[in-house]
Amino acid sequence: MTKTLLLLGGTSEAMALAKRTATLAGVRTINSLAGRTRKPVLPPGEVRFGGFGGSAALARFIANHEVTAVIDATHPYAVQISANAASACDETGCPRLILERPPWEPQPGDRWQPVSSARAAAVALLPEARALLTTGHRDIDAFAYRDDVRFVVRLIEAPDRPLPLKHCTLVLERGPFDVEHETALLDRHGITVVVTKNSGGKASRAKLDVARENGIDVVMIDRPEGPAGDRVATVGEAVAWLECLG
Ligand code: NAP
Repeated sequence: MTKTLLLLGGTSEAMALAKRTATLAGVRTINSLAGRTRKPVLPPGEVRFGGFGGSAALARFIANHEVTAVIDATHPYAVQISANAASACDETGCPRLILERPPWEPQPGDRWQPVSSARAAAVALLPEARALLTTGHRDIDAFAYRDDVRFVVRLIEAPDRPLPLKHCTLVLERGPFDVEHETALLDRHGITVVVTKNSGGKASRAKLDVARENGIDVVMIDRPEGPAGDRVATVGEAVAWLECLG
């Protein structure tokens, strides 16, 4: 019997999993992307874009498409879609797995200041700092009042509105980034502090290695608490879970 997997994506893990499930016999994968990026890198196979319209609508989607399993491989900071997936799966009785990359852990020499939100990160910046902001466009408003700080904002795509920052240099680029690249970026702009979410993974961790080597502060926005449920950290474990489902 064919299994229908709803794969909630938007991360490199989701992409890697989509590539694996595309090769599995007896598995139909519906990849779901929020549709925020204008030029997304597309996973193989079936892809749908945009929100479902809340958790009840997601439950209807699961029932109507006879989804037999949901893998939530969304970003650790995408709390709304993960909460919706949890309640929709509870409602429909659909098995759900969370594929979540482990967070970065501080190492000796790191100068991390953990904070609980973008708002708290803005408060934590020292006067006259030169900050590299890699939090994504949704969190930038929290920094708007810091008109004493010079920001370098790194985004994948140009924002659709002017950024609300008095001193701001926009850098548009898509990772992965290596140490050489990040060293050049931090040097070029005289960065004194890096502001980041604890995304985990290899693609964007080089900035932390460079910060450690150069005694640069890091304001680390902690992960929000996600929904309860079975969690794995690797694509291989997610495939094994899928294969074990009856
Ligand atoms: P969010 O706040 O948790 O989600 C907001 C709404 O967007 C959800 O309620 C849902 O709309 C829709 N949505 C989100 N992900 C979806 C998906 N994969 N498929 C279909 N609808 C989705 O999410 P977010 O923080 O805005 O992130 C949006 C997407 O970007 C996520 O898929 C995430 O994996 C990716 N991403 C996020 C971050 C981050 O820092 N937050 C970083 C990298 C990538 P409805 O309620 O209408 O269903």
